[in-house]
Amino acid sequence: MKEAFAGELAAAYDGAVVDEVRANGYRFAAGRLTIHLARELGFCYGVERAVDYAYQARRRFPGQRVYLTGEIIHNPHVNQRLRDNGIRFLSDPGEQRDELGAGDVVILPAFGVTVGEMARLAERGCTLVDTTCGSVLNVWKNVTRYAQDGFTAIIHGKVKHEETRATASQALKYPSGRYLVVLDKAEAAAVCSYIRQGGDRAAFIARFSAAASPGFDPDVDLVRVGCANQTTMLMSESLEIGEMFRAAITDRYGAEALVQHFRAFDTICSATQERQDAVAALLDEYALDLMLVVGGYNSSNTCNLARICAERVRTFHISDPDCLVSADAINHRPVGAPSTTTGREATTTGWLPSGALSVGLTAGASTPNNIVGQVIKRLESFCR
Ligand code: SF4
Repeated sequence: MKEAFAGELAAAYDGAVVDEVRANGYRFAAGRLTIHLARELGFCYGVERAVDYAYQARRRFPGQRVYLTGEIIHNPHVNQRLRDNGIRFLSDPGEQRDELGAGDVVILPAFGVTVGEMARLAERGCTLVDTTCGSVLNVWKNVTRYAQDGFTAIIHGKVKHEETRATASQALKYPSGRYLVVLDKAEAAAVCSYIRQGGDRAAFIARFSAAASPGFDPDVDLVRVGCANQTTMLMSESLEIGEMFRAAITDRYGAEALVQHFRAFDTICSATQERQDAVAALLDEYALDLMLVVGGYNSSNTCNLARICAERVRTFHISDPDCLVSADAINHRPVGAPSTTTGREATTTGWLPSGALSVGLTAGASTPNNIVGQVIKRLESFCR
């Protein structure tokens, strides 16, 4: 049965073009165009499993309403295909959570849901199909342990991202649990400064009110901290942030007391890390004219791949082949813009240089290979 569904999934996201390019040394050449493919790209193990479980759930409960709490992963094509297969999204207009009942099936996405939402769905008697990725569960395990031991979880992540909201909620399972979400090094630096020498308590609370557990008191809740992160952040940045906190705690309490005040676990998932490493290797190996990064505009790991590339080469983050409007115009999400579905999309003209062209290509963990294949084919059509 499982094999049958795996076959269905493979057919839905046919990756024949990508398979061919991989077999050809990750290189596609046609006329003046050469495309170099990152050695790790596209669907990760967690996403593949989640999408597979969703299709299985639809088949296994034929007479019942099957829902997703929201996007299963951050890719509009994958989500639309699930809608087309009869799976309803509780986040869609007109859907009512309070109408859910014992006969309904609810699929939980790869990045998980909050403790509160899980409890509410269970109370209603819904059948839950939990696709939360094992790498996310690993983060939850660490955050839960911090809470049990009275350490505040410092989460490097995006406070509005579903995964970070779910992770933060894990800290509140224990009365001593606290969390604080930091987006980047600038926010981490502000928190580290408070750890070192204190500061304006009211201003701190105001600045981080949307990112901290209820009643967060920096004078009390920054004494013992444990670092964690959203699994799809930039690994280098997460590691730097961890070291910033280690240094601040050491300065405040001394190296000999570090173990009583500081903990850290590397919770970037291996799939994210492999994709980030692969794109760095690609940029080292080839002199590229430009880089295409394919994935949803609200996909955190795709946005971070684009950030890595943009530091080294002209980069366009596109959501699908339709963004390649023509040899003259491309629609794309400006690198560094907020990662939201409704994010600003820019149009750049004159994007494709003339003459021999070397293009790097990668895709986020929520991008199926058929989309990558379509991008290759469309780009080729502009270079004949
Ligand atoms: S990106 Fe990592 S944590 Fe997220 S679903 Fe994929 S494997 Fe799991």
